[in-house]
Amino acid sequence: MATNKIKVDALVVGGGISGMQTALDLADQGYQVALVEKEASIGGKMIALSKVFPTLDCCSCITTPKMSAVAHQENITLLTYCEVDHIKQNGKGFIVGATNKPRYVDMDLCTGCRQCEYVCPVDLKNPFDNNLGAIRAIRVPFSTAVPQKVVLDIDNCILCGKCQTACAVDAIDFTQQPEEIMIETDSILLATGFEVTPKDAKKEYGNGKLLNVIDGLDMERLLAPTGPYGHVLRPSDGKEPDSIAYVQCAGSRDETLGVEYCSRVCCMYAIKQAMLLSGALPLADITIYYMDIRAFGKGYEQFYQNAKAMGIQFIKGKVAKIKEDENQNPVFRVEMVDEGGSVVEHTHDLAVLSVGMLPSFDPTPIFNVPNDTDGFIMTPDQNFSASLTMIPGIFAAGAATGPMDIVDSIMTAGSAASAASAYIKSQQNGKEESSSKIADLQKESQHA
Ligand SMILES: Cc1cc2nc3c(=O)[nH]c(=O)nc-3n(C[C@H](O)[C@H](O)[C@H](O)COP(=O)(O)OP(=O)(O)OC[C@H]3O[C@@H](n4cnc5c(N)ncnc54)[C@H](O)[C@@H]3O)c2cc1C
Ligand code: SF4
Ligand code: SF4
Repeated sequence: MATNKIKVDALVVGGGISGMQTALDLADQGYQVALVEKEASIGGKMIALSKVFPTLDCCSCITTPKMSAVAHQENITLLTYCEVDHIKQNGKGFIVGATNKPRYVDMDLCTGCRQCEYVCPVDLKNPFDNNLGAIRAIRVPFSTAVPQKVVLDIDNCILCGKCQTACAVDAIDFTQQPEEIMIETDSILLATGFEVTPKDAKKEYGNGKLLNVIDGLDMERLLAPTGPYGHVLRPSDGKEPDSIAYVQCAGSRDETLGVEYCSRVCCMYAIKQAMLLSGALPLADITIYYMDIRAFGKGYEQFYQNAKAMGIQFIKGKVAKIKEDENQNPVFRVEMVDEGGSVVEHTHDLAVLSVGMLPSFDPTPIFNVPNDTDGFIMTPDQNFSASLTMIPGIFAAGAATGPMDIVDSIMTAGSAASAASAYIKSQQNGKEESSSKIADLQKESQHA
């Protein structure tokens, strides 16, 4: 395997909003930064969302300039389609081994013209659309992807050679091999984000088998201007739904799933989607079944009250079961809280599970960084900085440290970048004691 070597001040792992912000904050201060992202484009979950609560600004309009800024910041080395696989201590810093997965496309030659994509005969489910739409075996991952280069899915390619013939610059290379990259760095920042509760997690909600029971991320794609169908429809028959119902805490505060914490964002994203739906489908009835509404941030309570005023129905009750009728309509069995625990059945056209946030990556085997009891990265001192891990020189930001919204992700990214900056300075000046409140705190927690 060919090996490339780079030397940087900071390695950021994960190219969602938290990782991008961390990398930009450090690079803008003059530090050399490597940003490693496992997918073929940076952007994380945020680039696939429709609009953001509570401002209802377009997500793509906020995220795309940030992605572009990362690509154009000369102090950032961007490594996409790349994963860290081992690490060793190197004096005061680290040597990190990462593998660049083969794209089967020469990144230096590819112009992103997509001629190869247009001729490819293989249609696959599109992961960017949460598998709702279709995409080719060779493709630019999505329209605003950074970098704007194609990636070839070798597992689903039928080796017909049409892309090779179509490419004017001869960029397709079926002989490409994985490439090893050795990254020498003073500090590491983990911004590996989250995954959502799998659709098949709860048998009570049909184990992911009921076609008209979708999740919050599906609805984000249906509502997004860049979505797969251009409007909201239900999967079973492509009809516009007249009655849409949300199930809150579908994967959070649930002992049976081992997820006892509140995922914080689900109430707010359900309210946001309900508001967007009342614009997209003005005649539809929209209901949110909930146990508590947690509108935790600045302006969020007002956002909730606005939704009520718009006619969105909030029903305090636990959805115990969803089954489907002969027309594949989801039928809800609801234990009503406000009516002395009576059990009622309501039929809707489309159900949306407000799925929770789960940790996406376990950093312990590679980075020796311990997790908290919920499985997110342990941050020892919430008062001093939520961005320290238990290991000196390794910091964390965003949803990798626990469920959080975009505002908090950006705030922890700034805090991680400033903690890392102080740490790098102290290491490079050879004065471990100066900014070493940070290093000391990490060492203390390590020995605690
Ligand atoms: C349905 C839904 C709607 C939402 N709507 C809103 C909203 O309107 N407003 C709001 O404020 N918040 C919203 N959120 C929350 C928001 O998505 C998160 O706050 C935000 O995406 C967190 O960003 P992040 O960068 O920490 O994580 P992510 O977006 O998950 O990014 C992590 C990145 O790290 C990469 N990665 C993971 N592991 C590795 C690895 N081992 N090596 C390299 N790369 C790796 C991933 O591929 C990804 O690109 C919503 C969440 C959901 C589920
Ligand atoms: S591989 Fe060739 S045809 Fe495909 S996008 Fe790149 S330059 Fe265009
Ligand atoms: S060789 Fe593979 S990627 Fe290229 S056009 Fe054929 S099926 Fe698509």
